[in-house]
Amino acid sequence: MTRTAITARDTAAAVPAQRSVVTAGTWLQVPSAAPGVLHIRPLTGEATASYVQRLATVYQLTLPQFLDGADINLHGHGTLPAAELHLNHNAGRHLAVLARTPLPHLTRALPRLAANDDAHSTEATAHWKRLEAGQQPVRACTLCTRHRSHGITDTAWVHPSPHQLMCPRHQQAAPDPRLTSTLRTQRVPELAAAHHTHQHLLRHPRATTAWTAARAITTRWYDHQQHLTQRWHPRLNQLCETNPHLTTTGSASPALLARDLVIYPETVALARALATLPNRPHRDTNDTLTLIARRLGLTRLTPNANDPLRVFITHTRH
Ligand SMILES: [Zn+2]
Repeated sequence: MTRTAITARDTAAAVPAQRSVVTAGTWLQVPSAAPGVLHIRPLTGEATASYVQRLATVYQLTLPQFLDGADINLHGHGTLPAAELHLNHNAGRHLAVLARTPLPHLTRALPRLAANDDAHSTEATAHWKRLEAGQQPVRACTLCTRHRSHGITDTAWVHPSPHQLMCPRHQQAAPDPRLTSTLRTQRVPELAAAHHTHQHLLRHPRATTAWTAARAITTRWYDHQQHLTQRWHPRLNQLCETNPHLTTTGSASPALLARDLVIYPETVALARALATLPNRPHRDTNDTLTLIARRLGLTRLTPNANDPLRVFITHTRH
């Protein structure tokens, strides 16, 4: 491997704020990026390890070689999505120079980059840390990733916000970290429609609480096969037909792997209904259930006393 330094002049021109680091930096001992590749932007919500891996790929290096070239000491072992790379402050600065992106911009895009500050250390270090299942990132849209990687890779892992469950442009989604490939959603057009409705819902002041409640309610209905099973079952089958890998991914069932996606349209519809409910003193439970049934496209909705929806509209303030 030929190791030629990135020229200080190029890097300083791209990131003026980093000039002092660059001119003092004897650590920029990585090969040149692949031809034609100047700048790799992070994806919104991208896992730090995913971004570092994409940069390494562009420089035609493995991740440990790339960090070594950036004079970042790597501790431990790990792989995405089960583990994340934690960088200390100095390592973040080194990464920002190689990424040709100011550190504050990187920190905004990479949600796990900021929280690992170790300002007293003069060393630049990176640690692999295992992630709990609920904290793991999921595969990003392959076409968006390829576009952001100048065609060099289509693999990236992101921590998506709830309203970014799918890519409506390329009709892809990865609702579970255990899916190593994304699911194609073209044959389930109501998912893209729900995505657009969800973006509008975000403007509502109660959007976050309504979403959290709605997701808990629809997840429980799905797990207990209540109310909407006749709609969810065919949708799951449709996704399995289009995505054979859904039925062959490890030990998890397709019903579980695709759950968030299968219930997505109704979760958005319910969240929208809950966000706009009148305040409780002026609310009649039966009228509310009739209204919610209509929003969900059901002729009637008769939840029992323990049903999470009935509990929500009976006991919450709004
Ligand atoms: Zn996309």
